[in-house]
Amino acid sequence: MRNAPVRYIVLHYSATYADQDLGVADIRKMHLARGFRDVGYHYVIKRDGTVEKGRPDSVTGAHVASHNTGTIGICCIGGLERATGPNVGVDNRTDAQKAATIRLVRDLLARHPGAQVVGHRDLGPTQCPGFDVRSWWASVDPGSASTVTTPEIPPTIRRGSSGQHVANAQHRLLARGYAIASDGLFGPQTEAAVRQFQRANGLVADGIIGPRSWAVLLD
Ligand SMILES: [Zn+2]
Repeated sequence: MRNAPVRYIVLHYSATYADQDLGVADIRKMHLARGFRDVGYHYVIKRDGTVEKGRPDSVTGAHVASHNTGTIGICCIGGLERATGPNVGVDNRTDAQKAATIRLVRDLLARHPGAQVVGHRDLGPTQCPGFDVRSWWASVDPGSASTVTTPEIPPTIRRGSSGQHVANAQHRLLARGYAIASDGLFGPQTEAAVRQFQRANGLVADGIIGPRSWAVLLD
């Protein structure tokens, strides 16, 4: 799919340990195993600062739920420490990775003026990339203070809910081919459609639209 004008340059980590010297070929393998057509990122930066090309910038990435269109994804290898284990994301980029990231981001900003530099966690529920990218980038490039507003995930809705968020969800379900009324009332028919939608998308089919279902529904 052709990538839209770039609004966000999104930094990630690979959620691998600092002593694992991985590169784009390894990440591509991991992503193909997850059913992606190619590595989800546009760039991968190795521990030694080598920048490797992932998918072409002109092709939409697969790196942020709901925000793949109009974004460029950069993944710095690392983000985990043996001492803290797999559930604690940290900023353990090497100096070489930081320098390479700065060069790459500046180059991308020159080609995509107006794009915002953000972290994956600014766009969705994740720790990735383990640090506050906007304040880091503001310290690197004081002139470019980012004014991005974090997109809001709508509130959780379930059977009995009503109002604009229900209508929005129904509208999205209709657009995906589920035959329901768009009346703003979360009844049994909507609930059944939500379960179907969840099953079709590998989500827990509980009939409740929480952050994960919203993320897929709004994508
Ligand atoms: Zn990420």
